[in-house]
Amino acid sequence: MTIHFLNCFTCNARVPAHWQSGTLCLLIETNQGLVLVDTGLGQDDYVHRTGVLRTFQAVSIVPMNPEEAAVRQIGRLGYRPEDVRHIVLTHMHFDHCGGLPDFPHARVHVHRREYEAFMGRPRRWTDLAYVRRHVAHGPQFELYDDTTARWLDFEAARLPFEPEMWLVPLFGHTRGHCGVVVHADTGWLFHVADAAPMGLDESVPGLLVHLVLGPHAPRLHEFSAAHPEVRMTTGHMWLDFFASVK
Ligand SMILES: [Zn+2]
Repeated sequence: MTIHFLNCFTCNARVPAHWQSGTLCLLIETNQGLVLVDTGLGQDDYVHRTGVLRTFQAVSIVPMNPEEAAVRQIGRLGYRPEDVRHIVLTHMHFDHCGGLPDFPHARVHVHRREYEAFMGRPRRWTDLAYVRRHVAHGPQFELYDDTTARWLDFEAARLPFEPEMWLVPLFGHTRGHCGVVVHADTGWLFHVADAAPMGLDESVPGLLVHLVLGPHAPRLHEFSAAHPEVRMTTGHMWLDFFASVK
């Protein structure tokens, strides 16, 4: 089984200038075909920039390279868009699900709370990063509810794939934000998405993390220290990570 680590949206801070990050999407070969965890921006986002993307561009440095679209990277790996049978979303912010229209045949797996937050009226400032047109093509959704099942220390819902995958509720950054666990050949991979800063970097100020990413980062740091055998990744990783996994 192979997991490809794709950077599907580079976004760099103006200050400090060394804060250069990419949005991590996982492309996983499973017995049910290719599974993509998050999509990054879609091809149309490069042509018709959404309002929230323009705001992002005003406050940070966004190279806007359309070759970063997941569908193009997957093509360079020798796959067709329809080979991606399933998409698992950690949450539905524009930089994580903008590529949905590039995979109209894929079934979309997401927590019910996230889907409802996306479809409902904005209630808090992080809801402003939802872009309704990203589901205008009417994808087939598979929604997950709260569960009593567990993966290690965490409540988790089993995803219907082999190798084993789990959706791990880490609500806070958005109302239905989740992490995703994959049983890779080398052991567990726990992608905590936007519940912790780049690569669980502890130098990012805690108050900023709590305000933007929610309450889970301290617990995830503790878990990481207690479980060195579990590889952990985040929704946005420092750019050198992507060079290291090439
Ligand atoms: Zn987000």
